[in-house]
Amino acid sequence: MTIEEELQRALSINGLTVSTNPEKGRCLITTKDFFPGDVIISQEPYASVPTHSSGSRCDKCFASRNLKKCSACQISFYCSTTCQKSEWKLHQLECHALKKLSKDRRQSLTPSIRMMVRLYLRRKLQTEQIIPVTATDNYKLVEALVDHMSDIDEKQLVLYAQMANLVSLVLQWPEINIKEIARNFSKLACNAHTICDSDLRPLGTGLYPVVSIINHSCLPNSVLVFEGSLAVVRAVEPIPKGTEVLISYIETAGSTATRQKALKEQYLFTCTCSRCIKVGLYEDIQESAILEGFRCWDDKCSGFLLRDPNDKGFICQQCGHLRNKDEIIKVATEVKLMEDKASASLSCGNYLEASAMYKKVELLQQKLCHSYSLDLMRTRECLLKILMELKDWEGALRYCRMTIPVYQRVYPVNHPMLGLQYYTCGKLEWLLGETDNAIKSLTEAVNTLRITHGTQTPFMKDLLARLEEAHAEAAYKQLPENDYR
Ligand SMILES: [Zn+2]
Ligand SMILES: [Zn+2]
Ligand SMILES: [Zn+2]
Ligand SMILES: [Zn+2]
Repeated sequence: MTIEEELQRALSINGLTVSTNPEKGRCLITTKDFFPGDVIISQEPYASVPTHSSGSRCDKCFASRNLKKCSACQISFYCSTTCQKSEWKLHQLECHALKKLSKDRRQSLTPSIRMMVRLYLRRKLQTEQIIPVTATDNYKLVEALVDHMSDIDEKQLVLYAQMANLVSLVLQWPEINIKEIARNFSKLACNAHTICDSDLRPLGTGLYPVVSIINHSCLPNSVLVFEGSLAVVRAVEPIPKGTEVLISYIETAGSTATRQKALKEQYLFTCTCSRCIKVGLYEDIQESAILEGFRCWDDKCSGFLLRDPNDKGFICQQCGHLRNKDEIIKVATEVKLMEDKASASLSCGNYLEASAMYKKVELLQQKLCHSYSLDLMRTRECLLKILMELKDWEGALRYCRMTIPVYQRVYPVNHPMLGLQYYTCGKLEWLLGETDNAIKSLTEAVNTLRITHGTQTPFMKDLLARLEEAHAEAAYKQLPENDYR
């Protein structure tokens, strides 16, 4: 049996098959019905690595607690002997290579370089049959990934070549093919996934060659989440037999132009999903103007603005008022200046100052942007995080609540972002003693997150326990002898 046939057989057990489409290349298609919350596929990475920005993390599971550094190479961290043991065959080779590097070379070991080194070491272990090869875990699947080499500019090619040289210096294999490593860097750029925790905070990068077969949609029927380094794809809507499984590669809250730009830049394709084909239609123009455009000059009008054909400014499509171009530029400049200052104080960890400045940004954006504006939403998300740091729970709850109607508008049903925001809301309401509101918010959170995250992870068990606790408290408060006033 060929490796492709073996893959098809492994997938058919899960109700899936791989087919090819002239425009998109490979596609993952269902051969049975899936329902919201069903796991479509799960996969351990072929190679993975934690990213620097999130601090030191376990090389295997990305945990940040109880870390012990490998005493030999001083580069790898592990949270437990279980994680260390499970990585040992790979790390033994990696450690041997890393130990020999000079201090300068060690400094240049970016996560991408480490990831590529690990990819080659894993291939070696499989070729030498030191670790098993399976239908869904083999280097042939990495070979089958698209690399888009012909679409990459000269500068990027030079960079990949330099990175490939560095990988070769680390590995010290005389027979290694530098061009192939460079091509693999290009593959990683458009196929690797960012591994996130349950709260969708990035932890690392992983290459999942079967999950990579799944194509993108800006209105996907499935979602990719991670349990440690395990990638899990779940259905977010009913998916009938014979349908293509689709996930989103990017932040889908954005105008069609913004989404298409992000996809073109990072993944080098033009999206033709059900949302993107509406480009140029009135409803798409309207939605883009609401999400990324300006508000009406009249406070009481909720109309959206489009560029005036004479280029004097922007005209409200509801009341016909014109907002002058110069006035818009003036406010937009003020927003930008204040935002720069605010983000500078935030990066210094000066939360009090940052909160005051972001509130000024918010006021200015309220003058400038539509109430469903994504910029305004991002400012409020930022204020929510800052106020949480400052333990200002009431302020944080106020901002958390303000973001929810925007999330409901910009994210489709069963989107994890909405579930997580309800979870934050519920936690804050619980802290502030608003038990009934906490029950409502946590219930909303459970309804969404049980579909996207399943019910068995520690994260979900914690959420379910909190909801139960809130219900118990509400019942207790209702007893006549427990008068709270
Ligand atoms: Zn670990
Ligand atoms: Zn080591
Ligand atoms: Zn699209
Ligand atoms: Zn108006």
